[in-house]
Amino acid sequence: MGGRPIKNNYKKQYRKATKTPAADDQIIEVVKATAGKEALGLVKLMAKNSDISEFNLVKGMRLDIQSIRNILYRLHSSNLATYRMIKDQKKGIYVSYWTLNKAAISQLFSKMHREKIQRFKERLEIETSNINCFFICPSACSRADFTRAVQQSFKCAECGQLLQQEDNARTIDVLREKIREMEAAA
Ligand SMILES: [Zn+2]
Repeated sequence: MGGRPIKNNYKKQYRKATKTPAADDQIIEVVKATAGKEALGLVKLMAKNSDISEFNLVKGMRLDIQSIRNILYRLHSSNLATYRMIKDQKKGIYVSYWTLNKAAISQLFSKMHREKIQRFKERLEIETSNINCFFICPSACSRADFTRAVQQSFKCAECGQLLQQEDNARTIDVLREKIREMEAAA
């Protein structure tokens, strides 16, 4: 907003020092998978403020208290957030204060990451033990392994065209590269 270079520089350094991009990416991925996309805005707000009251979350999100509480309970039941209740002496009611459980998020992220690598490895295993045994429709609407291709008399289950033998060397390369990348990032 104020376009002075000195101010911008300062802002940049400050952001660098406080922002941890990897952690943010982890939070987004874990929250999406466990509490749903609609929890993301709230979680971003919580990532910046720990021990934040439910009413400040309502203010920050411009959502009604019930929607906010629904998301919070979802986060809590997945162990992604913790809370404490404090009595508001003036109003005489209990107010909940919420904190993102970053350690649990980080653990869950690692677990999801390991499972993802495992799925890719299983897929690679299938591809490497079935080299040139996959058959694909010329219009690319279906793909079948040898057994299924035989059952279908080498015809596409969708459009009936004759299936062609697929060279899956490229698929194997892509999978190997993907696994290498994911293991490096772990
Ligand atoms: Zn087809």
